[in-house]
Amino acid sequence: MRAIALLGLAGSTIAFAGAAAAEREVEMRELAPGVYAKIVGDDSEAPSGEKIGTNQGVVVQADGVLVIDPSYAFQARWLASDIARLTSQPVRRIFITHFHPDHSRASALLAGAETEIFAATTGREEFEGWLTTLASSEARDGTGEPDLLLPNHYFGEPIAVGEAATRVELIPMGSAHAEGDAVAWLPESRVLFAGDLCKTLPGIEGIDSQAWVAAIERLLELPVEVVVPGHGAIGGRELLERQLELLVALRARIRAAIDDDETYRGLLRALESDPLLGTNASVRERPDDILRIYKEFGGDPRAEGRRRRLQILGLAIGAALVLAAGIGLVWRRRGATAWRNPT
Ligand SMILES: [Zn+2]
Repeated sequence: MRAIALLGLAGSTIAFAGAAAAEREVEMRELAPGVYAKIVGDDSEAPSGEKIGTNQGVVVQADGVLVIDPSYAFQARWLASDIARLTSQPVRRIFITHFHPDHSRASALLAGAETEIFAATTGREEFEGWLTTLASSEARDGTGEPDLLLPNHYFGEPIAVGEAATRVELIPMGSAHAEGDAVAWLPESRVLFAGDLCKTLPGIEGIDSQAWVAAIERLLELPVEVVVPGHGAIGGRELLERQLELLVALRARIRAAIDDDETYRGLLRALESDPLLGTNASVRERPDDILRIYKEFGGDPRAEGRRRRLQILGLAIGAALVLAAGIGLVWRRRGATAWRNPT
C-alpha cells in the first residue's frame, strides 16, 4: 500500500449519475506516475442496468497507452473518456488478463486499427470458441455489445511492453482461475494487475485450485507492493497472502472431508459456518466452486449417494434374512412339538 499512501488519490474520481448510485463513487487512482487503476470495488450494475464490476488499468507509456482489461461496453466507454482526459496518446496496446467477458468483451471500443491485443496462449481456444459464441448470441439477441475484437498477440512466455518506468511485463500464469490466466507486472513501481487470480470479493471461482495456489506462490516471489485485484478493493501484497490462505484452507478442509468419509452435504454445512471460508468462499451462493475442488480430490457426491443406497439395500436384505431365519425357527419348533405329541 505504500505507493498508494504516497500518491494519494490523484486522478479523476467519477460518480455515477442517477439516484441509485448517488452514494457510490468509482475512482481512477494514480498508483505511480503514468500508472492508473479504475477501481470499481464491487460487482454490480450501472444505473442503466449495464454490467460493471471489473477493475481496469491504464498505463501511459512513451509510445501510447496500454489498457488492462477493457471489460464490457459500459466500462470500456467509461475508460475511454478517462484516457482522453489523461493523455492525447492513442490506445496502442490492450492486455486481457483472461477471456471471461467481464474482462475481455468490449476491446473493440478501445482498439484502433494498429492496436495490439495481448492475451496468454493457453486461453486462445476460449477466446476463439466460447467467447465468440457468446458474442454471436449477444448479436442475435441485440444486447448491444460491440463487435468482438479477439487478441492478435498471444504469448506463452513472459513478454515486456514499453520501456523505462512504465515498462510492463505480461506474464502467463497457466490455467487456475480460467484457461489462460495472465498478469501485468510493473517492476519499477512494483504494481501488479492480478486479474481474477486475486479477488477481494467473496467467491472462489476457478478451474484448478492446485494450479491457483502455485500461481499465487509465484506472484509472491515478486517484490509486489500494490495489488490491483480483478474485482474488489485494491491493496498491498497482503491481498495475495489472503488469497493463498483462503485457497489452502479451503483445499485442506475439502480434502479432510473426503479422507474422513464425511458426506458432501455435511461438508457444505460445515463450510457455511466456517468463520474464514463461509463468507469468503461464498459457499451458499456458489456451491459449484466447492464441488469443483471436491472433484479435484476425486470426490463424487453421486458415488456417495450410490454408496448410501447400497448400504440401505444391504440393511434391508440383512433384516429380511433375520426375519426369514426367525420364521424358520418357529416352524421347526412347531414341527418338533407336533412330532412329540402325535394325535
Ligand atoms: Zn474471471
